[in-house]
Amino acid sequence: MQNSKHFLMPKILLVEDNELNRDMLLRRLVRHGFDVIAAENGLQGLLDAHAEAPDLILMDMSLPQMDGWELTRRLKAGRATQHIPIIALTAHAMLGDREGALQAGCDDYDTKPVDLGRLLSKIETLLLRRTSEGNISTNYQATVSFPPQTQPVAFNKEGK
Ligand code: MN
Repeated sequence: MQNSKHFLMPKILLVEDNELNRDMLLRRLVRHGFDVIAAENGLQGLLDAHAEAPDLILMDMSLPQMDGWELTRRLKAGRATQHIPIIALTAHAMLGDREGALQAGCDDYDTKPVDLGRLLSKIETLLLRRTSEGNISTNYQATVSFPPQTQPVAFNKEGK
């Protein structure tokens, strides 16, 4: 039973060397129904991408051991990994970063700090593209709920 439930969760590989960013994003993605594997450097990301066959990769571009640019190029050059969508994450909206990320082979790009709603919609777009190609569970939509853009009102002013 546990295995079949596991199977329905899209698996995301999160490659991020900053521990706080990594843990926070991991927790939030898990809460939204994803199975998340975290790697703290580029080399570990490369190994995990092969060992875990994730459905999607979130890639910090500034990484120790092997940076995100090199890791992306390697993954997109490898037969076993070239089909995995990659979303690049960079700390600053640097001019040319987006073009550079796409040129390196990334499928999409976003900036940190992460806007989770925006990132989830990019993840969804790439996963659904794969769904239509038959590569991932079609139950994906049922397993992921999107965060409300605003918190529900916690109190009623009229009652005060
Ligand atoms: Mn980094």
